[in-house]
Amino acid sequence: MRVWFLALLTLASCLLEPSAALAQQAKRVVILHSFGRDFRPWGQYAKSIREQLDRLSPWHLDIQDHSLVAARFGDEDPQAAFVSYLKALNARHQPDLIVSIGAPAANFVQRNRSNLFPRVPMVLTAVEQRRVDSANLSPEDSVVAVAHDFPRSFNTILKVLPATKRIVVVNGASPNEMVWRREIQKDADLFAGKVEFIWHDGMSFEAILQICAALPPDSAIFWHLMNVDATGVAYEGDRALQALHKVANAPIFSYDDGFFGREIVGGPMYSVEEISRLTATVAVRLLGGEKPADARPAAVRFAAAKFDWRQLHRWGISESRLPPGSEVFFREPSIWQRYRWQMLMISAAFLVQAGLISGLLHERRRRRFAEIESRQRLAELAHANRYSAVGELTTSIAHELNQPLGSILTNAETAELMLRASSPDIDEVRQILADIRRDDQRASEVIRRLRSILKKAPFEVRIIELNDTVREAIDLVKTLAGGRRISLIYVPLLTQLHVKGDPVQLQQVILNLIINAMDAISDADAGKREVSVSTLSTGNQAEIRIADTGPGIPASDLASLFDPFFTTKPQGMGMGLAIARTIVEAHHGTIAAANQPAGGALFTIRLPTAR
Ligand code: ADP
Repeated sequence: MRVWFLALLTLASCLLEPSAALAQQAKRVVILHSFGRDFRPWGQYAKSIREQLDRLSPWHLDIQDHSLVAARFGDEDPQAAFVSYLKALNARHQPDLIVSIGAPAANFVQRNRSNLFPRVPMVLTAVEQRRVDSANLSPEDSVVAVAHDFPRSFNTILKVLPATKRIVVVNGASPNEMVWRREIQKDADLFAGKVEFIWHDGMSFEAILQICAALPPDSAIFWHLMNVDATGVAYEGDRALQALHKVANAPIFSYDDGFFGREIVGGPMYSVEEISRLTATVAVRLLGGEKPADARPAAVRFAAAKFDWRQLHRWGISESRLPPGSEVFFREPSIWQRYRWQMLMISAAFLVQAGLISGLLHERRRRRFAEIESRQRLAELAHANRYSAVGELTTSIAHELNQPLGSILTNAETAELMLRASSPDIDEVRQILADIRRDDQRASEVIRRLRSILKKAPFEVRIIELNDTVREAIDLVKTLAGGRRISLIYVPLLTQLHVKGDPVQLQQVILNLIINAMDAISDADAGKREVSVSTLSTGNQAEIRIADTGPGIPASDLASLFDPFFTTKPQGMGMGLAIARTIVEAHHGTIAAANQPAGGALFTIRLPTAR
C-alpha cells in the first residue's frame, strides 16, 4: 500500500514537471572542430552553437570538444588512431549526438562514419554544400549546409567601390583552403575583363601582409581564410585578420560575419547566429528521437548585407552606394547624439550671447549716431550762442570800430588841409598816413576777431597757446567792460601754456564766463567792480580762472548751474554754462563754479596740457 502510494507520487511529480525530469537524463554530445576550437570562422560557430544548445535543450548536456588538428596538414595517418581514441573514450557510454563543425570535420566524420558510432545521429554543420558527400550520407546523418555565393560578394565590392581595379584574395594553404582556391578561381573567372584577381599562392602570410601594405590604388582585399599558410604556420583566433587590418592599405571584404566586427567593411555574409540557431534546433530534434534523414534543412544562403560604419568612413564609402536592405553597424553617435543636452545648452548659450552681442553692437551704433548728432547740434547751438554773445557785444564792437574809423577820418582831413598849403610838411603828412594805416589795422583786427568767433566751423582740435587764446577773447569784451565801468584784469601765466583744443570753442567758453561775470555786477553796485581773468599751470593741467566781485552764486543754485535752461536772468536762455561744460568736457577738461571767501563767483576751467 505504502509502496504504491510512493510510486504514484513520483509519477505525479514527473508529469507536473516534465522538464525537470528530462533534465535529470543527461545527453552526451561530441563536437568535432576543424583544426581547433578557435579557428575563424568555425570558432565563432562553435561558441554560438553551444550557447543556442544550452538555451534550447530541455536535457542536461554533457559536451565533449575534440579538434582535428591533423586537418591543418591533410595528414590522413593519425585519423584512424583518432577514431580509435574517440571510440575508446566513449566505449561504455556511446554519445547521443555528434556535431561536426566546418568542412574538414565533416569530411573526417563522413570518411570514418562506418567506424565511428554508426548508429549515433550526427549533424554536419557550417559546411559548404559542395564539401558534403551527399551520396554517402547515412540515414543517421543530418546536414546544416551553407551555399557560398562569391560572385555576389565580388559584385558588392564593385558596387560600393566602383573604381576597384583589382581584388586581392587572401587564402591559406591547408587542404581545405586549397579546395576553395580552385572554387573561388572559377567564380573569379566570371569577372574577367571587369576586375583583376590577385593570388599569392605559396607565399607565407608574412609576405602577403607586406604586399597588402603597399597595394596600388583602387585595390580591394577579399578575405577568405587564413588557417594555415604556405609555410605551415597556423593562425588561431583573430591574429591573422587583425594583422592584415593593421597594415592593409585597401578595404577588406568577406563572406561570413564570423569575421565581422572590426576589420571587415562588410557585404552580404552568412549570419553565424542564424546558422547556429538552426544547428541547435536540428540537434535538439535529433536528441529528441527524430530521424536525422528527415532533418536536413535547405542550404543556408548569405543574410542581408551588413556593413561596419567605421570602415565605411575610413574608406570613404557613401551609404547611398550600399545594396538595398543593408544594415549599418557600429555607427558612432555624432557629438550631437552623444551630448544632446549639453549641446542644446551650449547652443542656447551661444544664441543668447549672439543676441546680446548683436544687441550691444546695435546699441553702440545708435550711440555713435547719437554722439555725432549731438556734436552737430552742439556745434550749431554753440554757434547760435556765440551770435547771442556777440549780440551783447554789438555796442562795444561798434564803439571799438568807431574809434579807429574816427581817427582815420580826422587824420585824413588834417592831411588834406596840410596838402592844400603851399609848402606842405611832407614828413608830417607821412606821419599822418602812418597813423591812418595803424588805425585801419586796428579796425581790421576787430573785424577779424569777430569773424573768427562767428565762423561756423566744426570742432577742430590742434595745439594752441592758451595765454593768447584767452587774450583774444578778452580783447573782444574789453570795450564792453569799459562801457559798464568794470575793470577787466588779465593776469596770464608768464610762460607759454599749450593745450590741445579748438580755439574758437574755448574762446566762446571764456567769453561766456566773462559776460556772466559782468552781468553779475549790477550797474547799481558801487563797490569794487572787477572781473579778473588769470591762467595758471598746475601739474599737468592748465587752468583758467574767472573771478568777479558780484554777489556770488546762491548755494542752492550751485548744483544746477550747468544744467541746460537754468537761468536767473529775465531774458536769459540758460544755455551758456551748459554749452561751456560740454565744450570743456569734449576737451577732456573740467569746469567748476565756486564762491570766493571775499565774495563773488569764481569759475575754474582745467584742461590737460599738451606735451
Ligand atoms: P544765462 O546767462 O542765459 O542765464 P548761463 O548758463 O550762462 O545762462 O548762466 C546760468 C545762470 O548761472 C545765470 O542765470 C546765473 O544765475 C548764474 N551765474 C552764472 N555766472 C554767474 C556769476 N559769475 N555770478 C553769479 N551767478 C552766475
